[in-house]
Amino acid sequence: MQELRVQTKQAKQVVDITQEVTSAVSESGVKEGFCLVFVPHATAGVILNEFEPNIASDYLKWLEEFFPKKNWAHNRIDDNAEAHLKSAIIGPGELIPVSGGRLVRGTWQSIILCEFDGPRDRRVVVQVVGEKK
Ligand code: ZN
Repeated sequence: MQELRVQTKQAKQVVDITQEVTSAVSESGVKEGFCLVFVPHATAGVILNEFEPNIASDYLKWLEEFFPKKNWAHNRIDDNAEAHLKSAIIGPGELIPVSGGRLVRGTWQSIILCEFDGPRDRRVVVQVVGEKK
């Protein structure tokens, strides 16, 4: 298992971590198998999709509209219910095939860490399993 650390800079932010995950796959030596990218956090998530400035802001805008700030029950505890709800719907990770020692992904599929309650120091677990032949 490998672990990346990402220091997010804003309360809500999307960060392209494709290069870091690609390097982790290379370092693993696995040629045929799977790469799990997983964030062990309840207010973050991972998207596998296009990353450019416009769609990056659209992800956050869409989630703001989907989960507006309001009197969610959890906000009586630590005032971050929206962040938990976004994390729950986006999910904590992605499983990506590895073939020929490389991630199998589409041209427009980037691996994106989603921060919903930052800024924080986030852990990203990268587990690459498979054959090293
Ligand atoms: Zn909370």
